Amino acid sequence: LPASARPHVVLLCSPCMGHLIPFAELARRLVADHGLAATLLFAAATDAPSEQYAALAASVPDGVDLVALPAPPADALPPSTPVRERVVHAALSAVPHVRDTARSLVSTAPLAALVVDMASVPARDVAAELGVPCYMFFTSPWMLLSLFLHLPELDAGLVGEYRDATDPIRLPGCVPIHARELPGSLLADRSSETYAGFLSLAKEAARVDGILVNTFREVEPAVGEGAGGVKGMPVYAVGPLVWARPVAVGVNREPEHARLITWLDQQARGSVVFLSFGSGGTLTWRQTTELALALEATGRPFIWAAKRPHEDTADGAFFGTDGGGGNDNDPLGFLPGGFVERTAGVGLVLLSWAPQTSILAHAAVGCFVTHCGWNSSLESILNGVPMVAWPLYAEQKMNAAMLEVHAGVATRVNTAGPAGEGFVCKEEMVNVIQRVMEGDEATMMRRRVGELRDRATRALTMDGSSNLALAKVTDVWKSSTSSDKK
Ligand code: UDP
Repeated sequence: LPASARPHVVLLCSPCMGHLIPFAELARRLVADHGLAATLLFAAATDAPSEQYAALAASVPDGVDLVALPAPPADALPPSTPVRERVVHAALSAVPHVRDTARSLVSTAPLAALVVDMASVPARDVAAELGVPCYMFFTSPWMLLSLFLHLPELDAGLVGEYRDATDPIRLPGCVPIHARELPGSLLADRSSETYAGFLSLAKEAARVDGILVNTFREVEPAVGEGAGGVKGMPVYAVGPLVWARPVAVGVNREPEHARLITWLDQQARGSVVFLSFGSGGTLTWRQTTELALALEATGRPFIWAAKRPHEDTADGAFFGTDGGGGNDNDPLGFLPGGFVERTAGVGLVLLSWAPQTSILAHAAVGCFVTHCGWNSSLESILNGVPMVAWPLYAEQKMNAAMLEVHAGVATRVNTAGPAGEGFVCKEEMVNVIQRVMEGDEATMMRRRVGELRDRATRALTMDGSSNLALAKVTDVWKSSTSSDKK
């Protein structure tokens, strides 16, 4: 069908790069493989697009219409508002714009579905008004989705705070979740607004018509099981959807990217340690120094996608702003004195947005020190790279537990060392990198991650489980669109 006559899907994504990247890949596949047209709306949180957003926007294929919606006024929330509340607020403010876009599309093309992310579920009202189905695309693992869908019943049965529970939460087919692994920022305080907002999103989520989840059966065999007690909720495992195009080549940064790949070409196979803490992850000054000294001590080649330190929060760079340490004259001034000179030739420090998927795809990379954001985890698996798991925020501790205990493709750093809770000391870092790079444990992890890579790749082929699941749901959308027209 010509693009103009195709049934149209409107996708709405809250201001999280970790959501927008898999949303862009979903939209690309809907257009390229499933005969649909796609408009991807990004509920911006700030007026100026971040470098990250610009990099993605520059690589979106022609068939996908990516639109950044106007951000809410800068002074709408007090400056101290936590990231999660800002995200939910931006998503809510986007609803009238989604209504306008969907209404104007409907006048030219049949509308097949509205697809929202976890934070933008309130837009389902627009789908209801227009009589089209509303699906959620969940960009984190099934384990978190299962927890999310079970939250209302967990909440009803809980006395006190989650952190005080002595028994782990057991969800069907998932590794037991211990109190220390729960998403602290969301579940820390049951009387907080953040928690109330999260709980109300969880209740609303039960009202969507179906859920797509960015996972695959071989990594989470229980996906969909029990659907969190929500009767009849269809759950489709459509992952791993990662953005295969060079999203990370920022505007005007191609020469830097080319130099990086040339440097990697010169390194021995499987020798390089790659470190990145996602789009938003930041460390404290003390932790940054300690990590730098650890890297130096390993003597191994490394690429470190570093962010300026942030003292108060582990997601200090979430909206593409930096952590605030250092200064413009000396952008790497937050690293220990002489570090850059001493490691010249051995290691590269990249400030800001790194071409993560290109780096992980390079044969020279032997291990990925990651915060276990779900996209990073999937990208590591798809490239067969074992992980050092250093979770920082959101659901990352749960992901880390699953990747180590269940999938066997990661080793967690010990953050409860003698230097204080949450701090990773130099000796621990050197040791854990060694374990993932060399020896029996490393061999086993490499074999496991290689197997998972092959299965993930298979799931995405034409007759693979994830592609078939997506075909099934798009058939449902298309059939309801055509019957509406009769
Ligand atoms: N990413 C990147 N360059 C960077 C940092 C992140 O390309 O310097 C990409 C990364 O490849 C992944 C996404 O941004 O696709 C981060 O998503 P993830 O779920 O891992 O973490 P989040 O940023 O949501 O915490």
